[in-house]
Amino acid sequence: MPGIVMNKEKENLKQTHQQTCALHTLKVNNLNAVRQFFPQNSRELSDYLAKALNEAQNSFDLVSKIPKNLRDFDNTFYPLDAAETLIYSRRRAIEAISKTHPDSFFRDEATVCKDILVEFSLNLFSSKSVYNMYNEAYKNIEKNKASLSKEKEDYMNWKMQSLRAEGLHLEDSDYLKVKALKTDINHLESSFLKNIDEDKSFILVKDEELLGVPENTRTSLIKENESFTKITCQYPHYFPVMRYCKVEKTRQSLYRVFESRAAQKNVPILKELIQKRNRLANLLGYESFAHLDISDQLAQTPETVEKFLLSLKAGIQDKLKSEIEELTKELPDGISLDENNCIKPWDLMYLQENYKKKHYNVDEIAFQEYFPFERTLKKIMKMFEKMFSLEIEIIDTENKGLWNTPGWILVIKDKLNKSRIAGHIILDPFPRVGKFSHGYCFDVLSPCRLPSGDVNPAIVLLMVNFTPPSAMKESTLQHDELDMLFHELGHAFHQLLGIAEMPSRSGLHMQHLDAVEWPSRLFEFLIWEKENLKQLGEHFQTGLPIPDVLIDAKINSQNALSGITYTKYFYLSMFALKCFSSATQNPKLLREEIEKEFLPNIVCDPQINKEGSFQHLAEHFYRSKYYAYFWADVFAFDSYDHIIHQQKQGITNSWLKFRELVLDHGGGRDPNDQAFQFLGRFPTIETYLNKILNNDIVSS
Ligand SMILES: [Zn+2]
Repeated sequence: MPGIVMNKEKENLKQTHQQTCALHTLKVNNLNAVRQFFPQNSRELSDYLAKALNEAQNSFDLVSKIPKNLRDFDNTFYPLDAAETLIYSRRRAIEAISKTHPDSFFRDEATVCKDILVEFSLNLFSSKSVYNMYNEAYKNIEKNKASLSKEKEDYMNWKMQSLRAEGLHLEDSDYLKVKALKTDINHLESSFLKNIDEDKSFILVKDEELLGVPENTRTSLIKENESFTKITCQYPHYFPVMRYCKVEKTRQSLYRVFESRAAQKNVPILKELIQKRNRLANLLGYESFAHLDISDQLAQTPETVEKFLLSLKAGIQDKLKSEIEELTKELPDGISLDENNCIKPWDLMYLQENYKKKHYNVDEIAFQEYFPFERTLKKIMKMFEKMFSLEIEIIDTENKGLWNTPGWILVIKDKLNKSRIAGHIILDPFPRVGKFSHGYCFDVLSPCRLPSGDVNPAIVLLMVNFTPPSAMKESTLQHDELDMLFHELGHAFHQLLGIAEMPSRSGLHMQHLDAVEWPSRLFEFLIWEKENLKQLGEHFQTGLPIPDVLIDAKINSQNALSGITYTKYFYLSMFALKCFSSATQNPKLLREEIEKEFLPNIVCDPQINKEGSFQHLAEHFYRSKYYAYFWADVFAFDSYDHIIHQQKQGITNSWLKFRELVLDHGGGRDPNDQAFQFLGRFPTIETYLNKILNNDIVSS
């Protein structure tokens, strides 16, 4: 029987691939192996690059030799996915150098290597020949789809769709047009982001124009000359000045410069980007770029996203209105409304800060003294051990972080699976020159299920920039920093525990960007719970427990003025969506129309060009999908509500259930199905709105 011979041949092919799969041979299960995963010097870096290119090429060559009629999931889809996943991890290790290494020369070298790797990977895995391999396998599998698991079938369908979104199925002449457009678009996106990164906008003010700015901010400002001081658009300058400076002219100038960062260069780029992305989408058979961009997301269409955003806007508008009334009821000295009784945008943060101080009395400085970083971290890990059935060891490697820099390495063992090592978290906690300046969970290596059933452990690099220790005082964390830590730990544990059937879907790699922030946003709730704050807090000097009054004030302020905050996000989400669903020639006008519609009581300042400084528009993951944060919020808020509800009924294992039903599957399963299993129903906007509307304004 020819069928039997074919099956045997296929079985042999499958075994050859399993034995030669470079991803399967990685064994990063101890500290030494973790360090060795990152090249430590120039020589190691060039060897590493050569190795990465070789591994990918070898896997590709092996798959390309398989006869057409024998192609199937196991010998084509899986090994190509494993090879692509491995080269991605190698790239992440190299990027870790360019984003965090103390040596600027080595950082630059790493950036060059990363670019080589990205281009090589694109040429290899987004080529017509690779499309043909996938397509041959797909046609063979079509005849016998029943043998695939749902996870693999979903992946296969998505993969074919995403290859078509590259134009790889088109005739050569059209494909070349798509390719040229994509190259142009990539360049435009890079320039847009680079212009924002490199922007050095500032304003110059006289001493008396800094009235009200806190002393520690003032001392960090640089004197331009005898009479003028420079205020840059960096966050540690911008926010304190906007919140506290009593001089309107200073706030107004800084607001205008900040909201138009890089705009002069970026507005023309954005206009070109809008037209080119639209042309690309049309060539690929989509109505607009937003239609293409959202087609593989949970929301599926721009129309659904628009409805979603309009429902949120409608749901929150009463709260927005009452907040504006509260803010404008008793204006502080020196603040006035415009002729239409609207708030001037440069007064908004000042008014908000004033209001919070008056009504919530949060003492951020006293609060911070109760959260010494290292002790708090240990307690957080104890908490996670219980919640998720883990064993966590914190290896104290003072000045022995990844690059002999300060930091900790955490070893996570899984008690649900014979205490196997799930992976390592490298925590790089403090700022230093040349280090990436935001918070980010860097998904270096995803866990991988081996044919034997064992799992190769994962690596996470958690980059944050928290208050560093000083000669006088150890590092203590502000509530904002704790919030960010919990957020990033949500991503980190998703990355460590998430084992999908496909390597590229393991860890935090969800196909649906509009669900990626589900675990991270859910974890944030933990740091707003009174019991947790009491358990984690102890005074850095005296060791005394944190007083209730500090915690209560903080918790009460959680949703203070959330109507304004969220409506701003919803307006920007609508703008990102409309920008790429309408192929507008005039993004500024479009943004202003939406801004006026969403925030009618705040002056829309014609002098700013925010569309040029809105970096998500050019970021690979976001583009038209800024809404994705809030779609994921709906999942997170509903999940938290469910957990609290369960706890009230005495059910204490809800977090473990969340681990088992959501985190443990990485990006392998459909988030809608996962949410249904966890909640017993699909998530709803109502729960989300109820939660952000909570904490009504404290009457004055
Ligand atoms: Zn996040």
